[in-house]
Amino acid sequence: VKAKGRNGWSFYAPRMNDEVQERIVLERDLRLALARGEFVLHYQPQWDLTNDCLFGWEALVRWQHPQRGLVPPDKFIPIAEETGLIVPLGDWVLETACREIRDWEQEGLGSYRIAINLSARQFTQQALGERIEAILAATGLAPGRLELEITESVLMEDADLTAEILQRLKQLGVTIAIDDFGTGYSSLAYLKAFPVNKLKIDRSFVRDIVSDPNDAAIVSAIISMARSMGLVTIAEGVETEAQRDFLMAQGCQELQGYLFGRPMNASAVRSFFGGQDGP
Ligand code: C2E
Ligand code: CA
Ligand code: CA
Ligand code: CA
Repeated sequence: VKAKGRNGWSFYAPRMNDEVQERIVLERDLRLALARGEFVLHYQPQWDLTNDCLFGWEALVRWQHPQRGLVPPDKFIPIAEETGLIVPLGDWVLETACREIRDWEQEGLGSYRIAINLSARQFTQQALGERIEAILAATGLAPGRLELEITESVLMEDADLTAEILQRLKQLGVTIAIDDFGTGYSSLAYLKAFPVNKLKIDRSFVRDIVSDPNDAAIVSAIISMARSMGLVTIAEGVETEAQRDFLMAQGCQELQGYLFGRPMNASAVRSFFGGQDGP
């Protein structure tokens, strides 16, 4: 590239925009991260209001970068999705989470359900159903203890293939939750077309539930619609007792959020079991 400098024409290399540079470095490191064992799972408790007990954990992946420290998923999941790295990473998450939840059981910590996030990209392969089946068989985890959290975008991608995979998993006994419910573009028709068990009410609706009448109305409507369709509701991002009380009064069955526990690594989970009474 040529530009007119003070003393006439001079050459300069185009300076890459910092974001582009950052993205290239992250993508390069991400390709190596799986082989180097840099991913870890954190687990966040899920609370069952019906029996007033801890019944499950959501697995949330983190990247322990050698120089940058702990990288949150919002920084690297989108890159993993674009590059296709989400497929091997997603397999690693499934395998690791199923194994750890089974280990806790064998250590006498109790039998819990594990909820795992799946990206749309993971559903573009027919083999997803078989891979999940193989992981369940290898870890010895009962299918009923596995819940898959998918976003509305997954259902929009390749509807026929997705329906086929979900149907197969449902027959196994795996449950399906729609994550971030209410934030997508899709119509409600897919709730009839896909074998869905649960709606996970997005944190953005829960946040101001006590002060904002519109959010309160949206949440009440989701819960009552779900109930009439025979679907379970879980609310995410529950941070206060006032939010919990509102959700409980509306008939929401399950809760997740800082009020019940933050995402924690496996060793913190073990100490959490030690002193657990619930909020
Ligand atoms: P998500 O599935 O909606 O996960 C919930 C996020 O909310 C988590 O952020 C969690 O730490 C945070 N959170 C939980 N309770 C509270 C609360 O009471 N208050 C507030 N302010 N935040 C709360 P995190 O761990 O950073 O995950 C962000 C997103 O990354 C997830 O959103 C999910 O979409 C994605 N993600 C995480 N792990 C995986 C994975 O293994 N596979 C895929 N495909 N995506 C993942
Ligand atoms: Ca989730
Ligand atoms: Ca969510
Ligand atoms: Ca969310």
